[in-house]
Amino acid sequence: EQARELLRSKIRSIPDFPSPGILFRDITPALADAEAFTAAVELHLHHIADLDGQLDAIVGMEARGFLFGPILAHRLNLAFVPARKPGKLPAETIAEDYALEYAKNTLQIHADALRPGARVLIVDDLLATGGTAAATTRLIERLGATVAAQLFMIELVALGGRAAQGDHRVEAVLQF
Ligand code: 5GP
Repeated sequence: EQARELLRSKIRSIPDFPSPGILFRDITPALADAEAFTAAVELHLHHIADLDGQLDAIVGMEARGFLFGPILAHRLNLAFVPARKPGKLPAETIAEDYALEYAKNTLQIHADALRPGARVLIVDDLLATGGTAAATTRLIERLGATVAAQLFMIELVALGGRAAQGDHRVEAVLQF
């Protein structure tokens, strides 16, 4: 529809960022345009409308999961829980490592942030290889909570991140 095309037109593609050969999808023009920003929020909500009343919390990943995650949590009257890079969360944490192309990353979550049985929506700006989302899912499930769905503004289809999520439901507002 029209809102989706407006949003798509505000995603900027930057060659060779942050390293040679990477085509970076920059979402900041979509935030800088009030109409596109509103369209983005409404489209995110549209994708998970059927989960209304079946969620307890949103987990967003540092850093760009902090852009839409809290907005959606507020709109849906849900809790928001950050998954952060190591050393940022002050209380007791659990951690999961995941592989990058040439390195390793870690995400942490506060051990008391989700109650066992909590139903969680994962929110991030972009699904690429899926390693970040899979690590976040492991953190949530280790706390005894369940992942009802994962929601992204952008899915880079060729990188196969959806298949890396096993049976988990994946929703994307835009596909590239
Ligand atoms: P993955 O773990 O799925 O390979 O990578 C996804 C993570 O890397 C997300 O947290 C996302 O913010 C970031 N990311 C990777 N590539 C891009 C990109 O082209 N644009 C943006 N905005 N984020 C990216």
